Amino acid sequence: MEGYQPTAACAECKGRCCKGAPCAAWPEDFGSTKAEIVDGVREAVRGGRYCLDWWEGDPFDDGKGDGRSRSLFVRPAVVGHEGLVTHPTWGGACTFLGVRGCSLPFDRRPKGGRMLEPVGGGEECIAHDGSKRGAVLAWYCYNLEALVDELLEER
Ligand code: SF4
Ligand code: SF4
Repeated sequence: MEGYQPTAACAECKGRCCKGAPCAAWPEDFGSTKAEIVDGVREAVRGGRYCLDWWEGDPFDDGKGDGRSRSLFVRPAVVGHEGLVTHPTWGGACTFLGVRGCSLPFDRRPKGGRMLEPVGGGEECIAHDGSKRGAVLAWYCYNLEALVDELLEER
């Protein structure tokens, strides 16, 4: 599985990244076909541990986007905010963070978490996935707005 395993630096910093905000999920975290992926997100949000967050506006700044007013992506819930369909956040601990780090097996962690390379020594760790904008671009063609409408209607 692609990614960077936790190191001694992670044990030392005790999950600063996961305490600050949940990592972003990528479409391939939920399946390999578009239908599988959308079904996977639907079930994950119904389960209460994942939700949809967004980037304000359109992440394409070169006119290639459709000019949408917000661009959704998927991530684990913030502690205390489980069970929501949408939740914009500026920070908060991830619902999957346990006392020994991420409680998910490595191959079930969202790509944003797997692709963060630990550095240590107080330096910034390296996000090899393009971070939030990378996730937003990856989700761009999945019509997550329709999924949000569907999930909100169920409530
Ligand atoms: S990836 Fe970086 S911030 Fe996250 S736990 Fe490891 S060292 Fe700490
Ligand atoms: S899913 Fe795991 S790696 Fe990602 S933020 Fe949560 S605890 Fe950290």
